[in-house]
Amino acid sequence: MIEMQNITKYYDNFRALNNFNLKVEKGEILGLLGPNGAGKTTAMRILTCFLPASSGKASVAGFDIFEDSVEVRRRLGYLPETPPLYPEMSVNSYLNFVGEIRELPKSVRKQRIGYVCERIGLDAYKGRVINTLSKGYRQRVGLAQALLHNPEVLILDEPTVGLDPNQIIEIRNLVKDLAQDHTIILSTHILPEVSMTCGRVVIINEGEIAAVDSVQNLEKNATGRPAWKIVLKAPDNFDWQTIVNKAPDAQINDLIQGDASEFKLRLNRSEDFDDLFKVLTKENCIFREITPIKATLEDVFLKITLGEERKENA
Ligand code: ADP
Repeated sequence: MIEMQNITKYYDNFRALNNFNLKVEKGEILGLLGPNGAGKTTAMRILTCFLPASSGKASVAGFDIFEDSVEVRRRLGYLPETPPLYPEMSVNSYLNFVGEIRELPKSVRKQRIGYVCERIGLDAYKGRVINTLSKGYRQRVGLAQALLHNPEVLILDEPTVGLDPNQIIEIRNLVKDLAQDHTIILSTHILPEVSMTCGRVVIINEGEIAAVDSVQNLEKNATGRPAWKIVLKAPDNFDWQTIVNKAPDAQINDLIQGDASEFKLRLNRSEDFDDLFKVLTKENCIFREITPIKATLEDVFLKITLGEERKENA
């Protein structure tokens, strides 16, 4: 449904995107994840024909974004980070105006406004002036304008930024619901957003694609050596050196949970934990908690964006 091939974008001499390659299948929700300034908005603006690329090719629903931009725009709905709203207009007249720009015939306009407002939970707010709405509802109006012409593809730039936790959940659920009928690309710098909403994630760093995969695969591949978090109550005369000798990577924090100590162990093989657990049991330590530590998307993200991976691979 969406394809970008070797897209590069320069702002004067500054390269904001470098050789961007991306394929999005019909019905997917793809998350563009990256720190601020990574190039997410630039990629989205190029796809939505708001900004020309310096080089490369891209298409939406089979139409070239440079040669067939009118066809591409017909098939795209775009919610920029700041929705293009006219605050003094009512929701209904604003959507009517958007429908006119989209060249929807009057009868279709009316029907689509009705449908979209119902789908997005704006029915009761159609008569309200936009600047009297909460930020969450203004975001819904932004989504409504992106959806009005029933585009195959929705491109949403940071759709939950600045919303309160309840509004975030509502908008996330809405996006998931919309994915039944639309292919969606959304950008975010918030990790739970992609974990909860997106099937696949593209991690962008300094204008380059650093990783593309499902959240589960990214986490699985980043696990590295097995690690455990252990909380235990040791006898007074317990010699912590015993642990250190068995597990050189153990991080021991003294008595951080009442009378118990918490530490992290990272060993080369899961079997190595067996010896250690035997020692601790023999020394009459009481286990309060043993939890395997899994890599999270956050670990993957930090590793990539802080450049550790590059250093390790160098
Ligand atoms: P993101 O959406 O990931 O925060 P952007 O695509 O907005 O990133 O920006 C990527 C980089 O390009 C940033 O370093 C930003 O400062 C720069 N940039 C964005 N727009 C312009 C512009 N119009 N002129 C010059 N530099 C820009």
